[in-house]
Amino acid sequence: MQISKTELWSRCLDYVAERVEPMAFRTLFAQLSVEEFDGKSMVLRASSDYICEQIDGKYAQVFATALKSVYGFVPAISYNVVIDADAGLERQGTVGLNAVPAPKNVKTAFEIRNPFEQPKNSVSINSNLSSDYTMDNFVLGDCNRLAYNAALAIANKPGGIFNPMFLWGASGLGKTHLVNAIGLEVQKRHPEKSVLYLSANLFMRQFIEAKMRDEINDFIHFYQLVDVLILDDVQDLAGKTGTQNTFFHIFNHLHQSGKQIIMTCDKDPNELEGIEERLISRFKWSLVAKMDVPDVQTRKDIILRKVQSYGMGLDLSQEVLDLIAERVDNNVRELEGTLTKLMAYSIYMKQDLSVATVKSILGEAPRRESSVATTTSSNTLSVATIRKKVCAFFNIDESALQNKTRVHAVVEARQLAMYFAKRLTKDSLSMIGGAIGNKDHATVLYSCKTVENRMATNGEFRNKVEQIHRYIIS
Ligand code: ADP
Ligand code: MG
Repeated sequence: MQISKTELWSRCLDYVAERVEPMAFRTLFAQLSVEEFDGKSMVLRASSDYICEQIDGKYAQVFATALKSVYGFVPAISYNVVIDADAGLERQGTVGLNAVPAPKNVKTAFEIRNPFEQPKNSVSINSNLSSDYTMDNFVLGDCNRLAYNAALAIANKPGGIFNPMFLWGASGLGKTHLVNAIGLEVQKRHPEKSVLYLSANLFMRQFIEAKMRDEINDFIHFYQLVDVLILDDVQDLAGKTGTQNTFFHIFNHLHQSGKQIIMTCDKDPNELEGIEERLISRFKWSLVAKMDVPDVQTRKDIILRKVQSYGMGLDLSQEVLDLIAERVDNNVRELEGTLTKLMAYSIYMKQDLSVATVKSILGEAPRRESSVATTTSSNTLSVATIRKKVCAFFNIDESALQNKTRVHAVVEARQLAMYFAKRLTKDSLSMIGGAIGNKDHATVLYSCKTVENRMATNGEFRNKVEQIHRYIIS
């Protein structure tokens, strides 16, 4: 089987990555891409003279060995230095390893048009970003400083030295929020760039669908049009070899074309299981940034920012603020759940939040991660409670669910109540249908599917569902 040029160059980079310091790899070798290779000489695209000088100086030996081990010989290397793609400043240079003058007809990204590529402005990609998770409402603390600064650098210059980015940390620490914020910021600063956010799960579902329809080429081609690809929760690719394979090729293509890749994960790349080694090695090329649990001061800042953004005038005294920040110390999602609960209490009970009240409410709060809380609540939540809470959220009367109305809020509340009942209880579909609007099991299934589809394609809706979820389990 013939190995593609992309694969050969990837192997060459892998070879180097194992032998040089990660920072040198990321700032030098990971910034190169092959523009031309005719079997004898190779033109590499680099973004600065500095990169070429370093590679030809300090790293000449290791690079030559890498080339030889992969290609069987050391091709003549020349560089096409594109200093700043936005400004269009570029220069061809010849340096280093068996240097020969760069071929006269080397074309640059600006002159050449790939006949197979659709003109950029005809491609409109729905970014799938949520407008709620912005850089402005992300609170900076020691727990996320590296990730935050890298995020700003990426927003400023996607495809720069922090490409790819691999953000990891436990659930509920703000990974999705931050990567979504990068996407929004890129859209603001570089409106010409196409950004795509999606979960690894959705990527997998799309892949399976494309395979069933025999549309894999279209699938891959679509992803190759993206300038900034954000793949959330890559740990979900574990064990899915076909999807991993396809992502590997998309990754290589995007990376070599200088496109930005951002991934999140709940584990350090070294601890990932069920993911192919070659993909893990790509993850390790990345700027690997960890998100930690926020310290008490950051938790206070987050609480204040959230209360402000809820805009519901929850008035927290300093003592209450200190109390919440000290007691809810696990993750930010749990912190939000607690705030929702306190807010609901103060609105529905029409009572101010005293230290004693908050203490008693917090005393009942399970001190565990929200994913665990979901499982636990599945044992205790009833369909009736879910129905009641969803209706309270939409501010509609529970009896409205029985009506044959097409009023949007009622239809949505009914679908969401069914969705949560299926997700959080063990009741059968017909029991759920009977308790919510007196519907049959097929209607419940259809409702759940509708909610899932909307969540997969609509960030705002997904946030709303998460908000309702927090409210139900609070
Ligand atoms: P993860 O993806 O790591 O599981 P999320 O990004 O979904 O976590 O964050 C969970 C919730 O916590 C979100 O509502 C998010 O807005 C909030 N959050 C987490 N960290 C921060 C932060 N530093 N500033 C503001 N909100 C945060
Ligand atoms: Mg997430």
